[in-house]
Amino acid sequence: MTPAGVIDLHTHSRASDGTQSPRELVQAAAAAGLDVVAITDHDSAAGWPEAVTAAAEVGIGLVRGLEISARYARPRDDPSEGPARGPGVHLLAYLPDPTYPPLAQALERIIEGRRSRVPAVLERLRSLGVEISVDDVRAVAGDTVATGRPHIADALVRLGVVETRDEAFARFLGAGRPACVDRYAADLHDVIGLVVDAGGVPVIAHPWGRGNDLAILGAEQLAALAAAGLAGLEVDHEDHDATARAALRAIARDLDLIVTGSSDHHGLGKVGHELGCNTTAAEELSRLLTLAGQHAAASGRDAPRLVGRW
Ligand code: AMP
Ligand code: FE
Ligand code: FE
Ligand code: ZN
Repeated sequence: MTPAGVIDLHTHSRASDGTQSPRELVQAAAAAGLDVVAITDHDSAAGWPEAVTAAAEVGIGLVRGLEISARYARPRDDPSEGPARGPGVHLLAYLPDPTYPPLAQALERIIEGRRSRVPAVLERLRSLGVEISVDDVRAVAGDTVATGRPHIADALVRLGVVETRDEAFARFLGAGRPACVDRYAADLHDVIGLVVDAGGVPVIAHPWGRGNDLAILGAEQLAALAAAGLAGLEVDHEDHDATARAALRAIARDLDLIVTGSSDHHGLGKVGHELGCNTTAAEELSRLLTLAGQHAAASGRDAPRLVGRW
């Protein structure tokens, strides 16, 4: 089957920091006229089963994915110094087997880093005079294991400290703000290998967004990552302006990488990221699915099952 139509390959549900349940997300994708949507929660596949059921119900194509918290360690001149602590990079992983033990362990370590960061952030907030407890965060986070700053932001909104998630990031939680606490992320090279070994397809999310740019992930670095198994770049994303998109598209062409596009939808949690605001070309999704089949076969797995019509 050949994919066709409107394709959005990066969205979040309440399984991480989106504001819709997986079912609501998939229903909203169908209502928005999408033909294919990928669910790519941060560091967790917990939303997959509900999304699969909902996709079958509404007759939309569903690609199961993850957005894994990674860190790009710049190579050092002297390897004995060990890898440098590099900038955060989000890695989209399409159709991996999340029960593959090395991948499951990597995800569990990231989730534990998220879990242990919450009290540290709350401590900072209390030192700034904001009274907030773990229970306040739990009340808005629901049963997600991938607790993040957006949940703490939602708790601050609920407590009346700020009006919006954005204001919470601007005043307290964003990079360089007083309640921003770092957390563990997996090494990008390592996690690319784990995703391939798990039968999945690794694609860098918004490579030049969130403070990263060509100085950090330029053509040379991306070539090295492609040699390590990186399969694609998310070019069409709201964090990229037209110049960045053109430059990234040229790099992808030179390295023969898949080009994807997405909304990075978070429900009501991120304004300007409506479903389908950026999309992926059908032939690029075809390449991705072919590669997923090859990676599955190479690792002794069945070809990944895809839900819905293409
Ligand atoms: P964390 O996963 O805890 O490191 O938080 C990062 C997440 O916060 C990202 O995945 C975004 O969804 C969200 N985020 C980052 N900056 C903002 C912002 N300014 N406003 C709202 N959400 C944000
Ligand atoms: Fe997010
Ligand atoms: Fe991201
Ligand atoms: Zn995302």
